[in-house]
Amino acid sequence: MKTFELHDATTVQQAVTLLGQLGPTAKVLGGGSDLISGVMKDWIQGKGMPLPSALVDITTIPQMTTIQVSGSGARIGAAATLTSIIEHQEIRRGWPLLVDATESVASPLIRNFGTLGGNINQRPRCWFLRGEKFDCYKKGGDFCFAVTGDNRYHAIIGGELCYIVHPSDTATALVALSAKTKIAGPQGEREVAFDEYFIGPRTDVLRENILQQNELMTEVSLPPLASNTKTAWIKLKDRQVYDFALVSVAAVVTSENGVWRDGRIVLGGVSPVPYRAKVVEDALQGKDIRANITAAAGAIRSVARPMSANSYKVDIAQGLIERAVLQALA
Ligand SMILES: Cc1cc2nc3c(=O)[nH]c(=O)nc-3n(C[C@H](O)[C@H](O)[C@H](O)COP(=O)(O)OP(=O)(O)OC[C@H]3O[C@@H](n4cnc5c(N)ncnc54)[C@H](O)[C@@H]3O)c2cc1C
Ligand code: SF4
Repeated sequence: MKTFELHDATTVQQAVTLLGQLGPTAKVLGGGSDLISGVMKDWIQGKGMPLPSALVDITTIPQMTTIQVSGSGARIGAAATLTSIIEHQEIRRGWPLLVDATESVASPLIRNFGTLGGNINQRPRCWFLRGEKFDCYKKGGDFCFAVTGDNRYHAIIGGELCYIVHPSDTATALVALSAKTKIAGPQGEREVAFDEYFIGPRTDVLRENILQQNELMTEVSLPPLASNTKTAWIKLKDRQVYDFALVSVAAVVTSENGVWRDGRIVLGGVSPVPYRAKVVEDALQGKDIRANITAAAGAIRSVARPMSANSYKVDIAQGLIERAVLQALA
């Protein structure tokens, strides 16, 4: 592993200042489960993805590890561990979807030190990106090896230039829950809906979100769910012990007498960003959910563009959407 400087920030302002002073190869450090024991250990680098030279630890900033719940919703510090979210009784009662998604992340050990901000901002898992010998677009190279290579785990929707799938289970749940995040930078803090946070390769193939190098995510906020809103989380994976999603579905369903009034259906494992299946939501609008969900779930086929080895994901996505919506209703 390459050596690096380690800075323990004690305030958000200090972290922002350090990131500015240390320059473009400085990175924010959460639990380090991806940055240190993945990216840096495996020497994943390229012209557009230099190895970090300095890390700014934010788990040492007390305000960033706390979780607060009130009548207006929940605020979770970006450095809160995944386990602290799962074990928080008020989060369990108010946002079981987030708890279920978080509980499906990795192993108990990783969840004990992996942070919410680290999970949302982790780099993709494409095996070409993670392989030393493949200088692909996302590393600043000039080819996507998934186009001609083994693309069984790659995107079926929204891939252009690069066909990664967004790796974060919590990100999928947070988009479904209409959550927002706070970003701190040299100009102060701003709040951004997760709808606007993730960016695809067409916008910038080198990044997966709008964060600039000298910015960090400080907190995630969740609005309360309406009383007639129900949720469900389903994740299908290859290895049952722990694994990333082949396909996951986060469903938030607001209904009246079984009729769809509002809601969100968001898919993980299918696209470079957590993918909101508007096409399915629109097909359910104002309709009896149980009578129409099979046909509505089939609408996902109209937006899917599978590659040579991953058309099985289209079938899984359709089946899981139907199952997740019915599970939420039940
Ligand atoms: C074996 C294994 C299995 C896994 N399985 C899953 C899975 O099934 N589902 C899933 O979702 N994840 C999975 N993961 C990923 C794992 O959950 C993440 O590695 C972990 O959540 C990242 O948290 P961290 O705090 O350790 O992040 P770090 O490694 O510290 O950081 C990850 C990235 O996020 C950036 N970052 C961290 N915090 C912030 C912040 N506050 N603001 C801005 N940028 C920030 C870092 O700069 C870095 O680029 C798996 C990982 C492993 C090793
Ligand atoms: S899918 Fe993206 S990360 Fe994977 S090889 Fe292609 S360009 Fe690289």
